[in-house]
Amino acid sequence: MVARLLATPPPESAPEYYEELAARQPGVRVAFTKRKGKSLVATKAFAPGDLILAEPPLAAAQDPHNARVVLACQHCFRILGPSLEAHIGRALRAMHEDPELVPSDSENESEDWSDEEGPGCSQGQTPDALPSQEIASALIKGHLRMESDAEAQSPAPVWGDSGSAYCSASCRDAAWADYEGVLCRDAAAADDFASFVEATNPAFAVVARFIASTVSDAMRLMQESNKSPEEALLEAWRPVAWGQKALWWELPVADEDADDAAEYLCAMVPDARFAALCDARVIGSLLGMIELNNLALVVASPAHAWVNSRDGGGAAAGPSASALSDLARFVRRRGRTLDVDGTGFYRLHSCCNHSCVPNAHAFKRPEDDRGDAVVLALRTIETGDEITLSYIDEEAPFEERRAALMEYLFECDCPKCQARQ
Ligand SMILES: [Zn+2]
Ligand SMILES: [Zn+2]
Repeated sequence: MVARLLATPPPESAPEYYEELAARQPGVRVAFTKRKGKSLVATKAFAPGDLILAEPPLAAAQDPHNARVVLACQHCFRILGPSLEAHIGRALRAMHEDPELVPSDSENESEDWSDEEGPGCSQGQTPDALPSQEIASALIKGHLRMESDAEAQSPAPVWGDSGSAYCSASCRDAAWADYEGVLCRDAAAADDFASFVEATNPAFAVVARFIASTVSDAMRLMQESNKSPEEALLEAWRPVAWGQKALWWELPVADEDADDAAEYLCAMVPDARFAALCDARVIGSLLGMIELNNLALVVASPAHAWVNSRDGGGAAAGPSASALSDLARFVRRRGRTLDVDGTGFYRLHSCCNHSCVPNAHAFKRPEDDRGDAVVLALRTIETGDEITLSYIDEEAPFEERRAALMEYLFECDCPKCQARQ
């Protein structure tokens, strides 16, 4: 069974699978060529800035360190409130409790902070100081108001049985049916696995969700259609089988970690019928698929919009003004700490090939407040054009680009590379 899971599916079944998938995304289809494998092709014209694709992840997980700072829906990854104040107050409190969660300078954007709040605002204070514990608790208790219209973007948390937070009962129930119900069968094993993920590679949390949702799907197929466990497992595995871009043993995947992960996962998903899923080679291949295709899971904090609205002259006066100035300075300097950060796998997005002169880019607009992959047109795209993204810094010199693309196991033959620019 392990060999069958690792095998590449027969090519003739690919178009059917991707037609089904692309039917949910008007404007694109998946094409196949011998030379390039999968590619994403436009089925209509796009103007610069047009939305090409907004696709929820097949599986994604928030980075465990980030999850301690930012409370987000564990299914759609919206940032949770019930208010902007609660979101930020909670994050500040977590950073006060564990200073290791405060990012070091090198991890953050190198924005120039010096002229942000005008003269006189940084006396005696480090520019990026964490706002005080008092500010954190005033925010949490609702004593310090940020006068923002971001409330609508921050739903109150809905708690699941496993202690995970969601934005709604529907996200909670969808997560339970998809993977959470399988992952939470044994609470102690789930805790052990969570500690392992925190100490090793956050992508293992995504691997666990893949495995759990494969088990859920297989069980559903067995109930609905009288399939044998083997047949059901192979059918449930289809999305993963098609996601592969390379053989796992060609990838720079740490084998030891994959072995350990297999052990933890077997403890967490103790179903003998699906034991093949927890084989170290299967775990390694999933990890490879995520590493090769992953798009960072990012959801911007509504705090950025709040700071921008202050720039428009909305800053309040009064006793809370200096606390709000401290907060604004922190958000400008360390705002990324307040964003959701994680790893996701997106089926159609992962079909986009690389070009050093891409015609599209992954970019979140302010309304994109979930963990979806959002792809926008950079240039005019005609019907039938291939949609390309840049996996690397496409402005780098030719030799540097070629070296960076070796990690993705291919050599680029875009017009710019052919001209060796
Ligand atoms: Zn949600
Ligand atoms: Zn190129």
